[in-house]
Amino acid sequence: VSTERPILRTKGVGRTFGKFVALNNISAEFSKGAITSIIGPNGAGKSTYFNLLSGALRPSSGSVEFEGRDVTGLPQHRFAHMGIAKSFQITNVFPQLSTRENIRIGLQALVSRYDMWRPRARHTELIEQADELLALVGLWEARERTAKTLAHGEQRALEIGMALASRPRLLLLDEPTAGMSPEETRIMMDLIVKLARERTVILVEHKMKLVLGISDRILVLHHGELLAEGTPSEVRQNEAVKRVYLGQ
Ligand code: ADP
Ligand code: MG
Repeated sequence: VSTERPILRTKGVGRTFGKFVALNNISAEFSKGAITSIIGPNGAGKSTYFNLLSGALRPSSGSVEFEGRDVTGLPQHRFAHMGIAKSFQITNVFPQLSTRENIRIGLQALVSRYDMWRPRARHTELIEQADELLALVGLWEARERTAKTLAHGEQRALEIGMALASRPRLLLLDEPTAGMSPEETRIMMDLIVKLARERTVILVEHKMKLVLGISDRILVLHHGELLAEGTPSEVRQNEAVKRVYLGQ
């Protein structure tokens, strides 16, 4: 953190939908190895910003830089190849397949030309890697279960496991605790902290309370604008932020 070049940066990015300005002129830097959280009330523009950061959406203005390189407007798959992985606000697993098969699909997508010449070795590696990821996201016990029978919290963990299959350097998570029970939420927050030990994490979250304890930096969006930015204690004491979060 600090003097190192940020892993990701936006310069004056904005996004409109027709005449509606969902996001206006956001400049921010995301430190390597840190957890940066993006918070704000519903409709603030968090998911729009998330989609711009992950390449799922093109900005209407401004630019996005990943590891010092301008990546504005590149197709989604290029973002994935560069080492950026994401899980969306909406759950997205293959419901009929087992937990382990879902993870393997994520890994299969990465089979290289070299690997095609050694299918047997590759197969063994795939199984080992899948099992490692299952253990990492806390789904080892649930590995044979059909994904649709998993609890909501487990499905979200599975999605993250699938996103990790590409060995991303940057992991983007949009409201990973949405719809979760307090117990599921606690497990997910613990997982995020664990994952952040080895990669950069950008976390979108509606509830400020959840991110105060785990974030290195927090950005607050409101009506498509960057309302505040700073450490958790700076943000918590910010008067404008207090007004927006009053009563929440
Ligand atoms: P958040 O994730 O903070 O709740 P969003 O980024 O999803 O907010 O949405 C910000 C605003 O942009 C909302 O008013 C939303 O209705 C609008 N918006 C988002 N996506 C679209 C879209 N594809 N078309 C039109 N309006 C959109
Ligand atoms: Mg959202």
